[in-house]
Parts: sequence; C-alpha cells; structure tokens
Amino acid sequence: MLSVILPSYNEEQMIAVAARTVTGILDEAGIAHELLFVDDGSRDKTWAEIRKASETNPHVVGVHFSRNFGKEAAMFAGLEQAKGDCCVVIDCDLQHPPEKIVEMYRLWEEGYEVVEGIKEDRGEESGFHKFASLSFYRLISKATGLDMSSSSDFKLLDRKVVDTLNKMPERIVFFRALSFWVGFRRAEVSYRVQERTAGVSKWSTRSLIKYAINNIGSFSSAPLHLITLLGVLMLVTAVVFGVVALVQKITGTALGGFTTVILLLLFASSVIMISLGIIGYYIARIYEELKGRPRYIISELCGRDAE
Ligand code: UDP
Ligand code: MG
Repeated sequence: MLSVILPSYNEEQMIAVAARTVTGILDEAGIAHELLFVDDGSRDKTWAEIRKASETNPHVVGVHFSRNFGKEAAMFAGLEQAKGDCCVVIDCDLQHPPEKIVEMYRLWEEGYEVVEGIKEDRGEESGFHKFASLSFYRLISKATGLDMSSSSDFKLLDRKVVDTLNKMPERIVFFRALSFWVGFRRAEVSYRVQERTAGVSKWSTRSLIKYAINNIGSFSSAPLHLITLLGVLMLVTAVVFGVVALVQKITGTALGGFTTVILLLLFASSVIMISLGIIGYYIARIYEELKGRPRYIISELCGRDAE
C-alpha cells in the first residue's frame, strides 16, 4: 500500500478537490493507497472538510494538530502515522502534480528507495523571493554538501527510509535535507510547479527567513566558525593600527587619534555582539533539543479509527 501524506494548513477549499483528484489518479493506476491529511491546526474549516472527505472516501485518514506546528511537523506526523510500504509527501494545494505519484510509484517498484521530485522551474515568484531562495539554497547546499537547489518536499520514501526518519531523535528537523542525508538508492522525477488554484501561500517573508535560518542551523555550524574568522580579522586590524599608532608616537605625530579609537571601538564591539548572537542562537537550539518536547500534538484522528 502507498501512503500519500498531505500537510494542510487553512486549505478548506482544497481538501475535497485534492482527495478526489489523488484517489482518482491512483485508482485508475490500480495502486492501493491511503490519503493521510495532516491538519496543521488550521483556523478555517479544513478539519471539518477532512472529516467529511473521510466519510465519503474510505481511503482518507485525518490527523488534527492541537495548534499550528508548521509543515515540517505535519510531514513527520504523516510519516509516523503512515501504514504504507512507501510514502509520498505532496502539498495539498496540488501545486505538485499528483499524476507524478504514479511515476514515482513505478520507480519504487523497480527497487528505488527514495524518489525525489525535482522542480523544473520555480513557478511564479517575485524578485526578492527568487533572490532569497537562491541564496538560501546555495548556503544549504554548501552546508549539507548536496545540491539542493531544485529539491522540494515532494518525494516518495520507502518504508525503510520512513522508519529511519521516524527513529531520528532531533526535534528541529528539515525534511528535505534529512531525506538527502540518509542516503539509500535514489531516483528522480522532474515536475513543473503548478499555479495555486485556491487559497493563498502560507509562507510569509518572515516565516521563510526563520525557516532558512533554522535549516542552515540544523546542518551546519559554519556561523560559529565565522566568529573565529571575524576574531582573526580583528586581530590583524588591531596589529596594523597598533603599529601605525606606535610609529606615530615615536615620530611625535600622535595627535587627534580619536577617530581611530572610536572606529576601532565600534568595530570591535559590533564583532563581539554578532559573535555573542551566533553563540546564543546555537545555545538556544541546544536548549530546544534538550527539552525533548514532542514535535507536534495530535488532538483528533479520523478515518482509521472509524473503521
Ligand atoms: N502548510 C502546513 N503548515 C504550515 C504552512 C503550510 O501544513 O504552517 C502546508 C500547506 O497547507 C500546503 C503546503 O504546506 O499544503 C505548502 O504550503 P504553501 O502552498 O502555502 O507553500 P508554497 O507552495 O507557497 O511554497
Ligand atoms: Mg503551495
């Protein structure tokens, strides 16, 4: 059986359409499946829609979070709830073309354990968004040592991979990179990002920046090394200024050195502040992980228990 995981947050208009479309495609291809809708604490009628879908469509299973925990948590909840021999994660706004699931499934039947959905293009995006996501992918690719520029959350994972991911103890997770990191036999399927037909994108610029920082922090301690680099640069500057100051002192021209002092002071204190900030950020992460809180809280289930 194939488990299709659909994280949904305020997607009331999309649930019924998504359930109908995906079931239609998979039934036609003769693939046994379940549709796992994970309602990420939506504030609209998403959960009611999922319940309704589960009454009419026997494939539908619903998971309801007690509040919004984010897409990463929703995907991991889906992986933990899934009963299938393989799982596909797909956006429930149908921006990932569901026909591709069949293609992925066939590759899985051939023995591939991870089938990545690769974006052919990034769809419609504004200038700033494009620039920001490009820089993010460049950074994260460097941090993970893997080319992540066209990867997405749309992918198929074999049961073995799902079990491996479920066993990972870390709380702050980045699904896309983690599924690269685990390895396994991989294949790729390319797809075109579709236009959103209903509702709006759930990502604000602020949440995207947070997402980027979190994910770089998950895979790299480069920002900490940056501090050392800044320190060395400071030292070099200090030596140069020191020599200059000494020469001026000896030649008797040491006057009005206030500018230098003030500049140095400002420079040094800003470097120290940045460094403290970065260290603080990593300490905060250690604290977060140490608390060991669950990634999400499920308040309600539907579909499976009702059987
Ligand atoms: N999503 C979620 N929790 C969130 C934000 C988004 O489960 O906090 C889901 C959303 O319902 C959708 C998918 O993640 O199925 C992708 O979100 P969206 O379409 O808003 O992102 P975009 O396609 O614009 O990148
Ligand atoms: Mg979308």
